[in-house]
Amino acid sequence: MVLNAALLDLPVLPALEQEWQRRVRTDPQLLFDIHHAVGGPFHVIYPEQFARNLRSFQASLAGHGVRGQVYYGKKANKAGCWLPTIADLDGAVDVASEPELVHALAHGIRGRDIGVTGAAKTDALLRLAARHDCVVAIDALDELARIAEIARSAGPVRILLRRLPPSAPHSRFGLSAADLDTAITLCAQWQPQIELIGFSFHLDGYAVAPRAELAFDLIQLCAKTKAQGLPITTLSIGGGFACRYVGDDDWQAFLDHRRDDWFHAGKRFEKFYPYAQEPTGADMLDAILRTSFDGRTLASHLRDNDIQLFIEPGRALLIDAGFTVFPVLGFKQNADYGITTVHGLSMSVSEQWKGSEFLLDPILVPRRTDPAAQPIASCVGGASCMEYDVLTWRKVPLPQRPAHGDLLLYPNTAGYQMDKNESEFHQLPLPPKVVVTHQEGRFLWRLDR
Ligand SMILES: *Cc1c(COP(=O)(O)O)cnc(C)c1O
Repeated sequence: MVLNAALLDLPVLPALEQEWQRRVRTDPQLLFDIHHAVGGPFHVIYPEQFARNLRSFQASLAGHGVRGQVYYGKKANKAGCWLPTIADLDGAVDVASEPELVHALAHGIRGRDIGVTGAAKTDALLRLAARHDCVVAIDALDELARIAEIARSAGPVRILLRRLPPSAPHSRFGLSAADLDTAITLCAQWQPQIELIGFSFHLDGYAVAPRAELAFDLIQLCAKTKAQGLPITTLSIGGGFACRYVGDDDWQAFLDHRRDDWFHAGKRFEKFYPYAQEPTGADMLDAILRTSFDGRTLASHLRDNDIQLFIEPGRALLIDAGFTVFPVLGFKQNADYGITTVHGLSMSVSEQWKGSEFLLDPILVPRRTDPAAQPIASCVGGASCMEYDVLTWRKVPLPQRPAHGDLLLYPNTAGYQMDKNESEFHQLPLPPKVVVTHQEGRFLWRLDR
């Protein structure tokens, strides 16, 4: 869909919208009440959607008769509200720091349902993990030696050995084939303090085939290692489950008609996140499990070898589970498009941080709708004094001129956009996260803890 000539033939990228978000944003009071209470910008998060996303992954595993566990990649959004939801649904959490681990424990996740990943980990994190029976993905030989030392006093520790992906030889994560061999030999010697339960990997990108292929290779390694007497039970294929934010036609139109003058101040971007892809979420897990090797599906290889499958989705558990609201401070018209300035910083929409742009059309929530309003095009700037503090360089269509006191909503920001790059620059407080729940026909809200 492309707008009329008066708006510079701007492409539009309307977010696919869940019913809960439509109802919250069209409520005549709710967002303005929250803004009144918190003052500045804020994030709205909806744990019920997270629960739906988690159940769909669990249903996919169950549908294939594959035992396993879904670990939430916690770095994708640090809110506390997801954690009791995970605990209630018997899910698990993947962490990479002591505060993340402690936060998960404090909100009811059992240590045995916490996975610890990341490059070289601190001794304190390894000790905490060992004492709470977490599963630790070991990234290097020296780390294996350190956790073996820690396990002498902290008790037996369950570990996975993380494989350096052969398809990504320059990755700084995981063990090479040679180091993996050495590590397995050491794990055999260091039993029972070191309990090698299996292997793991995490791949960049969102493709099915490389995940299925590396999984199949590691199933062979699991079988071989089990035959050597090690207590192998598990394969973890990491995260990176694809997500969809916009319709295929809108995305294709954007890619096909993209022009450099669509962006404020001649700004150019090399690449964007793929906002429309297929398969996504649990359907992508299905596709991985259905991939065939030697005439049988990956799922049947897992079942036959009695291996449970761990997955670690971050973004895909958060899809459709939150949005971000910035109060409008002002608007001015330039030659052919406007500049909207909001109360808040571009660091609160983290995609900007990666030299990219969060592309979904922001949605204007006007305090008053103007029946005679003309649509306008605008970029969106932040409240700091830096020229490059821009939330949206793209000239986006808005149904009317934004005015001080209106709200500007960025849809579908829960995955990575909310806190990955947030900053108190200018001594501006971090935008709070507001948890919305639906009870007896109305929405309640509270601050996340
Ligand atoms: C970041 C990360 C994840 C989550 O990745 P998503 O792309 O959000 O699904 C899972 N596992 C590991 C080891 C990670 O580093």
